[in-house]
Amino acid sequence: MATHFDLLAIGAGSGGLSVVERAAAHGARCAVVEPHELGGTCVNRGCVPKKILWYGASLAHSLREAGDYGFSLSTGKFDWQRLKTVRDAYIGDIRGWYGDSLTDTGIERIEGSARITGPKTVAVGDKSYSAEHIVIATGSSPYVPEIPGAELGVNSDGFFELDQCPQRVALIGGGYIAVEIAGMLRAYGAEVTLMLRGSKILRNFDNMLREVLLEEMLDNGINILSSVQVQQVRETPAGEKTLSCNTGLELGGFDMLLWAIGRTPNTTGLGLDRVGVKMRDDGHILTDDYQNTNIPGIYAIGDVTGRFPLTPVAVAAGRRLADRLFGGMPDRHLPYHNIPTVVFSHPPLGSVGLTEAEARVRHGRAVKVYQSRFSPMYAVPLEHGQKSAMKLVTVGADERIVGCHVIGPGADEMLQGFAVALRMGATKADFDDTVAIHPTSAEELVTMR
Ligand SMILES: Cc1cc2nc3c(=O)[nH]c(=O)nc-3n(C[C@H](O)[C@H](O)[C@H](O)COP(=O)(O)OP(=O)(O)OC[C@H]3O[C@@H](n4cnc5c(N)ncnc54)[C@H](O)[C@@H]3O)c2cc1C
Repeated sequence: MATHFDLLAIGAGSGGLSVVERAAAHGARCAVVEPHELGGTCVNRGCVPKKILWYGASLAHSLREAGDYGFSLSTGKFDWQRLKTVRDAYIGDIRGWYGDSLTDTGIERIEGSARITGPKTVAVGDKSYSAEHIVIATGSSPYVPEIPGAELGVNSDGFFELDQCPQRVALIGGGYIAVEIAGMLRAYGAEVTLMLRGSKILRNFDNMLREVLLEEMLDNGINILSSVQVQQVRETPAGEKTLSCNTGLELGGFDMLLWAIGRTPNTTGLGLDRVGVKMRDDGHILTDDYQNTNIPGIYAIGDVTGRFPLTPVAVAAGRRLADRLFGGMPDRHLPYHNIPTVVFSHPPLGSVGLTEAEARVRHGRAVKVYQSRFSPMYAVPLEHGQKSAMKLVTVGADERIVGCHVIGPGADEMLQGFAVALRMGATKADFDDTVAIHPTSAEELVTMR
């Protein structure tokens, strides 16, 4: 096996695999170091298993709603194990494709944990490797608080390993992972209590989305407690968890406690101090617009940088870095704005560009907002109604659209095309001049007054 490479990536998740694959396509000799399965968080403990469970949860909603559409259904028992088996087989296939792709493209796979030993050298176990370019793509891990009994809970990694659906769940956190898991577990029939440190969910999203989702979660029967912090967890001999909170509140009878209170960058043991790679106070690696760290020849991409921790962002940053280093594109880089994102809640929501609050801070009185709240046509026969809401944030006399926010059925598939329009600098007049697709929810975005 070779020990010197043009580029060596540390971590075979979304970012690491993307950078080596693109660099190899440009003719570079590449290696990727990984101690676990190929694919990283997204494939094994994130987007992919989550989305399969989300589809199942959406089906559970549809089955309940089918009666209102005139179907008389008897659905029987839900088989969690079957769905898990199918899901895990699919994940196995993806890992297999990645393995084959590395072999086909001549990329070396080095198994183990990497430690940077110098500006151009890396150790894995007792072996040493060198590379002209080293890319840190080690991702992040779920954070669990240091309180007595915290270990009695699971995190999102543990959630994907469950062999059955829990009955009574305490879910701590208000970010997108907490909100998504709460929605899924509720749809599968669990009694869910979501506990927030503050008063709101989804801190970085537009207020309209947060308000509508909160209403929908309450309507779906999710119990939401705000301004509460868990200080201690105990377990009865029967395995039930009791939570003691800062407010004096004691909550018991949970068969599962799930922490979803954030993630920490995987930098421990990487040897960054030794070579002097600078990190922020929270441990994320500092990079410039071109993914350079402060040490020439060492780069960082993906979650470990803390900038938009999303798979397509890690992928885009990795590919563009490879284009810049080996593809003759010296200015190629990822601008970190207008990045679309979807939360797979029930209903889903999607967002691209500035929130209304951000736009008002940046552009003041030049901001004009268009919004609409309505009941989607799908909900007409339903006894239990549904809400959709949309918002366009515009700036200036030409009303350039700088933010687009949607919640409601179909929002997840709607946003991608609108993200292209924003990136191209679309104005409200461009939206208004676009012929609507009728009858859809999306047409609301091109007919807003
Ligand atoms: C529950 C959940 C749901 C998510 N859903 C979505 C979603 O719907 N859409 C979306 O876009 N994003 C989603 N994400 C985020 C997405 O998974 C991450 O943004 C993405 O995986 C980041 O890629 P990465 O390459 O930076 O890190 P990772 O994919 O985490 O890969 C890092 C790899 O580095 C390895 N590693 C760590 N230390 C070392 C070392 N010392 N040596 C060698 N290897 C090392 C790790 O084992 C890991 O395989 C979700 C995340 C979670 C947790």
